[in-house]
Amino acid sequence: MVQELVFDAPRRGLPPRHLADLDEAERASAVAELGLPAFRAKQLAQQYYGRLIADPRQMTDLPAGVRDAVAGAMFPDLLTAATEITCDSGQTRKTLWRAIDGTTFESVLMRYPQRNTVCISSQAGCGMACPFCATGQGGLTRNLSTAEIVEQVRAAAVAARDEFGDRLSNVVFMGMGEPLANYSRVLAAVRRITEAPPHGFGISARSVTVSTVGLAPAIRKLADERLGVTLALSLHAPDDELRDTLVPVNNRWKISEALEAARYYGDVTGRRVSVEYALIRDVNDQPWRADLLGKRLHGALGPLVHVNLIPLNPTPGSDWDASPKAAEREFVRRVRARGVSCTVRDTRGREISAACGQLAAEGKAAR
Ligand code: SAH
Repeated sequence: MVQELVFDAPRRGLPPRHLADLDEAERASAVAELGLPAFRAKQLAQQYYGRLIADPRQMTDLPAGVRDAVAGAMFPDLLTAATEITCDSGQTRKTLWRAIDGTTFESVLMRYPQRNTVCISSQAGCGMACPFCATGQGGLTRNLSTAEIVEQVRAAAVAARDEFGDRLSNVVFMGMGEPLANYSRVLAAVRRITEAPPHGFGISARSVTVSTVGLAPAIRKLADERLGVTLALSLHAPDDELRDTLVPVNNRWKISEALEAARYYGDVTGRRVSVEYALIRDVNDQPWRADLLGKRLHGALGPLVHVNLIPLNPTPGSDWDASPKAAEREFVRRVRARGVSCTVRDTRGREISAACGQLAAEGKAAR
């Protein structure tokens, strides 16, 4: 029971049904409910996933007489861009979305020479309460629906196509929220993101990253879905004493349990697991912690792990800061010395509060 609550809070307050909520069978029944022939279901999905069109009034292969009915039944206008801010010479863009019920959350599109990545939210707010994370300070507002998650991806794909003349290549669940605490909707969204048109956007599963605080049973469950997405585990400390404070869910699932689940994920999928570690000056950046991190990861995951060090983005009102560069370099060196691959993550969007953990709670975000 407790686990069900942790995995999947109720559907309370979710928006009306949208095509992107539905799988193939559900799309067929939705079309039948409207009295339309079955082939329309595939046509609508092709328009949405293949051509990125979410307004039936622009679907020219749909009879004009049914467009309004289809719009009303299957294409509610779920997300409105309330604010858009860019930085890094236009290469990074944060969008503040407003849902139908007024709930706000954010996504960030990042353009790189070889890829376009969107960082999306799975929940409005977050219930995990990590003290160094801006989102964690505001608490959980609600889960996002599958379609609210998928719509963030569609919007990014449209921007990549129309503005960069390129395709959206990567999706990371590293915006607001704990994706595995909204399990079934995130899973459905991953399917829509990765399946080929007309069932999804056709983004390669290995280019989709699901990042988690370490809900061990949900990690195993995700492994068993065999989707082949990349798993990122937000560790941030190699010892339970410190992790209990930095990632409070550690009081429920200890480091050893999270690492065993990550190992299972790596074994089942054959994919290397990313371990996220925000380096915080004088909190978790000591040489002995680097040694312990390398040792534990090498022991638990062997070659199936890569460490991403994230320079801490200080949150307003907090005393914590990023580690000095010399401490960061020494940390990398020590982790590598234990045979574990380790790099420092490039941080984008700092000046527009779009960097890791900076997707602030509603109100503040609109600043
Ligand atoms: N709930 C998921 C996804 C959220 S954020 C998770 O925790 O993995 C994605 C990453 O950004 C996580 O590793 C998170 O710990 C990290 N992060 C949060 N706040 C940060 C901050 N202020 N500086 C650097 N990284 C941060």
